[in-house]
Amino acid sequence: MSMRCLIARGMAGACLAVMVSSSWSATVAAEADVVLRSGKIYTADKARSIRQAIAFKGNTIVAVGEDKDMASLIGSATKVIDLGGKLVLPGLIDTHIHPIMGALNGAKCSLAGVKATIEVLKPVIRNCLDKDQGGADDWFEAAQLDNYGFSATAKDVDFIEAARPVALWGNDGHTVWVNSRGLALLGVTAETPDPPGGKIARDATGAPSGSFADSAAIFVDEKIPSPSLGEKAALTAAELKKMSAYGITSLMDAFVARAEAEVWRRLYDTGKLPIRVRMAIYVASPSDDSDEAVARLIAASKAGDVDSNVLRSGVVKVFADGVMEYPAQTAALLSPYLDADGKPTKTSGELYFDPQRFAKLVQKLDAAGLTVHIHAIGDRAVRASLDAFASARAANGDKDNRHQIAHLQLVDPADFPRFKELGVIADFQLEWAKREPATEGPLEPYLGPERYRYLYPAGSLYKAGAIIIGGSDWDISSYNPFRAFQTAVTRAGDKGKKPLNIEERIPLQTAIDAYTINAAYAMKQDATTGSLEVGKRADLVVLDRDILTIDPETIQDTKVLATYLDGRLVHSASPGSNAGDDEEDEEPGKWWDERESRMRDWLHRD
Ligand SMILES: [Zn+2]
Repeated sequence: MSMRCLIARGMAGACLAVMVSSSWSATVAAEADVVLRSGKIYTADKARSIRQAIAFKGNTIVAVGEDKDMASLIGSATKVIDLGGKLVLPGLIDTHIHPIMGALNGAKCSLAGVKATIEVLKPVIRNCLDKDQGGADDWFEAAQLDNYGFSATAKDVDFIEAARPVALWGNDGHTVWVNSRGLALLGVTAETPDPPGGKIARDATGAPSGSFADSAAIFVDEKIPSPSLGEKAALTAAELKKMSAYGITSLMDAFVARAEAEVWRRLYDTGKLPIRVRMAIYVASPSDDSDEAVARLIAASKAGDVDSNVLRSGVVKVFADGVMEYPAQTAALLSPYLDADGKPTKTSGELYFDPQRFAKLVQKLDAAGLTVHIHAIGDRAVRASLDAFASARAANGDKDNRHQIAHLQLVDPADFPRFKELGVIADFQLEWAKREPATEGPLEPYLGPERYRYLYPAGSLYKAGAIIIGGSDWDISSYNPFRAFQTAVTRAGDKGKKPLNIEERIPLQTAIDAYTINAAYAMKQDATTGSLEVGKRADLVVLDRDILTIDPETIQDTKVLATYLDGRLVHSASPGSNAGDDEEDEEPGKWWDERESRMRDWLHRD
């Protein structure tokens, strides 16, 4: 007898052993639903033990051990799968990702991989416009513009399209350019002040010139009519399916305002969540430490705690600064940016909050049991974030809220030990830590060698005892966790590339921890996920290769053969097929099914 555990409204907790009313019931109750055997099970338990087999019943792991230990758990209805030596990891957890925004961006005109000059962009955008059904007053949006070093005014964008309002979104997720028609529709004038934590680019007269950064870009986004809730949910659901194919079983949406919360709720209500989701509620005013502001955030978080197993919140998201790349340079640095010749400028970026009031806000949120997740890029933003956590620690003691700082592009060495001291978790986008156009031209000269040496200092924080977790920040970068693993250990992109600060690499096991047990800890779900141990939920992935032993420069090519969530097979593929391809496998899961039937034959050989 097999049981099906669906992750759906009201059913998540209903994965109970169903006993048949016969004399066989005792035996049936002891049988596992699924046994994976003859594999290499990386458990991520305390000892990081590796075993041969794992069994689960309903959504719960009932045994982890050697093949011979599984015999008593195998009954006539047990699915037994011969792994043929394949590697199994706990389900992977992406602790900083934007699934809804990314899915919506994916539906826009893509400028990915296009050289960002008006001349080169024009034919690409015109081509999209030709296919677009929108009317003369409908916004036209393109995304993934490679914005490093790109600058344009509304008049420049008019050269591409002047009749319809146009918005071009940068691939840093923080910048947008609009044309003159768009500026007029937005109603922004010389009198409009910059919103807190944002910048409206202006000409010499103070009139808006066409680009918007950070919270000013969020303002633009809110002004542009978005697709219906149903459309947003459908686009997101399609993307979640692809994430399952990369082995992702849990994630944190690192920016949830009302619109995002509605989409997650819709997906939950319609049973379309193949991934556990934690929502980080966006704090629009991080300098507002009033009791009312705190009460609003607590209420938003409570409303997000829909199902402790599937959809929950308990965390807020704050921006401490912007981005570091030239020409934006909105990240807050301890000492000024350099000019292209290496001489100090007068610019060192700005904090997006008042440090004293922000520290008060963090104290109150910490006292209320919320996790605070801060976007901090520059070393001054990182220090201000640590200071706020220190003040919460001083006021409240250790409330075990597992606060986090994400991105950590530049950290002053004096602050390395503070992560461990304060229990602050370091959330790296490990795939970013490589030499590529984005980390060289717009950064290297403007920081100088002493600071550049500590770009993405994962190794230094690891050595200083910090807990490291990983998130893709998709759609800023790919959510393929194996790309993150490869870059974390090689600090380089593709094979043979020169590494970025090789001293800052981390061991592969630490990278895996960052997506499994440590990520589960950060998400406050380590009691149920993150490692493969008896009593925990059966979230696990089967890989086509042994990443623990192969050439690290090939880890990113890893394919996921099977993903289980809560004991349920949510993805299966054959070796050689491409995970996440838009096209379905010719015969999805055929290899997987064959392993199972071969095992069945073996079981019934007498
Ligand atoms: Zn992000």
